[in-house]
Amino acid sequence: MTENLYNIYSTWLKQRYGEKVYKIPVNIPVTCPNRDGTIATGGCVYCGAKGGGNETLSDQLSVSEQLERNIAYIGKRYHAKKFIPYFQSFSNTYCELPDFQKWILEAIRPDVVEIAVSTRPDCITDEQLQFLAMVKKEQAIEVTIELGLQSVNEKTLQIINRGHTLADYEQAMERIKAAGLSTCTHMILDLPWDQEADVIDGAEIVSRKGSDFVKCHSLYIEKNTVLKQWYDEKKVTLLTKEDYIIRAILFLEHLDPEIVVQRLIGRVPKEDSVITNWHTSWWKIKDELEAQMKQENNYQGRKFSGMNNKR
Ligand code: SF4
Repeated sequence: MTENLYNIYSTWLKQRYGEKVYKIPVNIPVTCPNRDGTIATGGCVYCGAKGGGNETLSDQLSVSEQLERNIAYIGKRYHAKKFIPYFQSFSNTYCELPDFQKWILEAIRPDVVEIAVSTRPDCITDEQLQFLAMVKKEQAIEVTIELGLQSVNEKTLQIINRGHTLADYEQAMERIKAAGLSTCTHMILDLPWDQEADVIDGAEIVSRKGSDFVKCHSLYIEKNTVLKQWYDEKKVTLLTKEDYIIRAILFLEHLDPEIVVQRLIGRVPKEDSVITNWHTSWWKIKDELEAQMKQENNYQGRKFSGMNNKR
């Protein structure tokens, strides 16, 4: 059923690589310019202590050791043989070039088919892009840069203290595409300061900029965040699960049908979270969303206008 509703990542991976492929989180000792005072202090209002990396091993372990341990576990448990090291926590390009090069090269193994690097749109140097383009060519593996955007509404970006603009995202996408690398865009679909029109604009802009993948999640509240404080002080009201489903469907129907959806609902470990996904399992929300799409005869790209100037 789901295959006809939206472009699912696991299916796409299987078609591309001929078998199951697993993303393996990798943790390196970086922080984020939006937290350490370079751009701002405190970071995005929802950013928790782990900077978005929730299933990682200690950054005190080498990249190769983290991969060794995780691959041994996941490979055995899921009978997987191909992997994507995923540099996940904080801004993984916020480091010196030699360190960046060393960590990326450490992640290359015979069973690795791709490398994914998560970062901010305003935090990628030309040297890093050139290096990743060279890795892609010489190692014959795909390289994907994952960019946090979250909203295309400038006012919302300011409220949540992203510290970058929509133009920063658009320019980063152009530079990454020009380097021949893949791109994944992260979006939060139920930011209370966004309207449904912003969600539609988000789908259209991400499509127009040629993002190869998207990752979506709801706004969750982690412990020790500015958002938690706002929530306690009743300065913010979260949207409902039903609102999220409506917005996620809106996003999908305006999204280029070629874009692969890596995730529709996020997850935060219980110990870090105050409210995540309305205390409902992510897969129940996914099931509800898919049932609603089916009932509406809806599908990814149904209202996608086709972009004359796409890519
Ligand atoms: S850009 Fe990412 S790591 Fe940096 S503060 Fe925002 S959510 Fe946290």
